[in-house]
Amino acid sequence: MERRQEALELIEKLLERDALRLRRSFGVGLLLYNKLRDLLPSSVLENLRSFDGMSLEKRKAILVELKKLLSAQRSKVRRIPQVEKRPLRSFFTDIGKLNLLDDKEKKLIKSLGINTVIDALFYFPLRYEDRRPLPSVKLAKVGDKVVLKLRVREVRILKDDRYTAEVVCTDGTEYISLLFKYKKTDFVRAVYRIGSEVFVLGKVKSFQGKKYIVHPQLLSEEERGSVLPIYYVRTKGEVMKISSRTRQNRLRVALQKIARRLTPRLPDYMPRKVIEKYNFPPLDESVLEVHTPYDTDVKELNRFADPYHRRLIYDDLFLFQLSLLLKRKETEREKAPKITLSPEKFIAKFERSLPFPLTNAQRRVLKEVLTDMNKQHPMNRLLQGDVGSGKTIVAIGATLAAVEKGYQVAVMVPTEVLARQHHERFANFGMKVELLIGSLPQSQKKSARMRVREGEAKVVVGTHALIQDEVAFERLGLVIIDEQHRFGVLQRKVLLEKGGGYYPHCLVMSATPIPRTLALSLYGDLDISILDEMPPGRKEVKTILLYESEREELLKAVEEEVSRGNKIFVIYPLIEESDKMELRSAVEEHRKWKELFPNLSVLLLHGRLNEREKKKVMERFRQEGDILVSTTVIEVGVDIPQATLMVVEEAHRFGLSQLHQLRGRVGRSDRPSRCYLVVPDHLKRKDADAIKRLKVLLKTTDGFKVAEMDMKLRGPGELLGISQSGYFGFNVANLARSYDREILHRAREDALELLEEDPQLASYPDLKEMLMYRYGNRLDLSSVA
Ligand code: ADP
Ligand code: MG
Repeated sequence: MERRQEALELIEKLLERDALRLRRSFGVGLLLYNKLRDLLPSSVLENLRSFDGMSLEKRKAILVELKKLLSAQRSKVRRIPQVEKRPLRSFFTDIGKLNLLDDKEKKLIKSLGINTVIDALFYFPLRYEDRRPLPSVKLAKVGDKVVLKLRVREVRILKDDRYTAEVVCTDGTEYISLLFKYKKTDFVRAVYRIGSEVFVLGKVKSFQGKKYIVHPQLLSEEERGSVLPIYYVRTKGEVMKISSRTRQNRLRVALQKIARRLTPRLPDYMPRKVIEKYNFPPLDESVLEVHTPYDTDVKELNRFADPYHRRLIYDDLFLFQLSLLLKRKETEREKAPKITLSPEKFIAKFERSLPFPLTNAQRRVLKEVLTDMNKQHPMNRLLQGDVGSGKTIVAIGATLAAVEKGYQVAVMVPTEVLARQHHERFANFGMKVELLIGSLPQSQKKSARMRVREGEAKVVVGTHALIQDEVAFERLGLVIIDEQHRFGVLQRKVLLEKGGGYYPHCLVMSATPIPRTLALSLYGDLDISILDEMPPGRKEVKTILLYESEREELLKAVEEEVSRGNKIFVIYPLIEESDKMELRSAVEEHRKWKELFPNLSVLLLHGRLNEREKKKVMERFRQEGDILVSTTVIEVGVDIPQATLMVVEEAHRFGLSQLHQLRGRVGRSDRPSRCYLVVPDHLKRKDADAIKRLKVLLKTTDGFKVAEMDMKLRGPGELLGISQSGYFGFNVANLARSYDREILHRAREDALELLEEDPQLASYPDLKEMLMYRYGNRLDLSSVA
């Protein structure tokens, strides 16, 4: 509080009298930097480091910006009634028991997955709409979406062919027309009664100097006159039949009621130290403000940059970090089967059985893994490696080690195509490997499960089918999860709990490299290994951006590759989510390619095929196929070394990391490979940014660099293949915002510090309770609770 105030005063002084003081001072940057450290994001503070060398104009601009940020941090304090707080626990009660709500409200709320009072309070708006009326029509700028409070003067029925009715309104000094296109004009007459006062929302247009709004939205009583929070209201079932506007209004009314009535009683679970360090507003005030904005700038609210949102974002990330750190400690205490062998000797022996030497990176990482498994406590390791870096071999090495010592290994992958591929590869090493995937006939699944349960099968490779209840192991010693971002934390947990008394070692693998610092903060419960070296002899995949009109070049390339006996992937995006559309465009694309190359074997793969059909297509393609036309079902993990040409149609519809993954399907041998990114010609004119984005891929084949760019452009949600918040259990934090990513790291530091000082969180019972509530199902905080 104090430092902030001091800094603010200093800035004001510096700017006084045309920045007289600023002109004369030295070392201001450093001084402010020290005062503001921790109070503002470092991206902002960075400017202060080289401050003194900057031009006066620049320095002034920076100070003005800082001043704005600092004053926004807590503009006006809202008075919260000072009532006695209730125990936090009482906020975990069923929302259905709340007398405050009527049945309709309860039904809607429950359908949105809000079960308790705390869920409701933490169900935060997506954005805000300013519904405060402008003081006058004069201030309504053409092109702006505004709210106006108007009196109806006249309703005219028009013979115009564009509009059928015009409602002339006034604010007392100036006129504005509301125009309608409805065939039946009764409605207009009924609603806009002459002389009545209306609140309308709409975009201002103008014709020959006259302002008008087409089809304005008439605001109901509860919608007018304030800053309206807008919530996520898509849900399932019956409630969905009610119009979204009704749902929106009903939910808002309900949540605002709860917020107004109950937040004054909500205790703050955050350590006081943290609150003070960041000068955060209290929890009650923050929750109340985001649901019922009082005096916060709408733009700030929509950027989630007001102090209330920032506090709640921090809460999310702090709880998340605490949960990771606790989770880590918890696994460290578990007993795992110790797989005793000498890593060096084992690796040397393993390497002799391979047709190629391991890369140095593979050796190093395998050693890390074996060393971990040689301990009494479970390994929890994330193996990151770019596509094609050879993660599977590492997994096989670890598997052989566990099997040699008499333990079972479960390998979970996201798709059946990948499961079959791994099954075959693992089996090549002479292990008895079971395949467990959903599409197998019941009887086969049953006998596979039996062999796993009785320990006859040492290794089982499968999809989600592995985590079903019926699956049990005899001596599960190692769990490997490939393409881990496709799985939730809970799924991992389920598999790990099948150890039967043991807590197995766990290796998760990911081909979506994310920058190390982010990985550390996001996967703080894991140790991280990185495969940062490609197998030798790999030629860089040549990447070409191709406009539709240049397609001729592509067709030549296809002929060339086929004549050399190589294979080709053609990938196109799903333009619509709907299955039918997918099917149609898949069939259509396939037909086109067949017509172009009638003598080649052109196959088709898409998500609508059932697993058995997919398997057939993949097998045929491996054996005798030339061209595989496919949707992105092919994206992860598929390994067909003879494939040398990747064609991505409508490449601009994909994210960079996804394209990088796709590109990784070729260049998996020593044959030179190419990747064509095909885009429509008009993109050059219409979306220069998209072109710029795609060009990143032409410049680098380094997945980490691609990921970094992708994250800058789109945030890590897409990168991790997850829908943003749900995955990590955030209520409001969104790692697509660079601010939130920065806070993620900071929250980690703070969480570490707190746990160091109070490992059991003994002095923070509410914080503990909140953690249990949020992450209890992922954690067994018995030692903490
Ligand atoms: P990813 O890391 O993308 O899962 P894979 O494990 O599928 O990569 O390996 C890609 C290809 O590289 C496979 O065909 C594999 O046999 C081959 N490979 C892996 N390691 C080596 C190596 N050290 N030397 C040569 N080829 C290798
Ligand atoms: Mg792989």
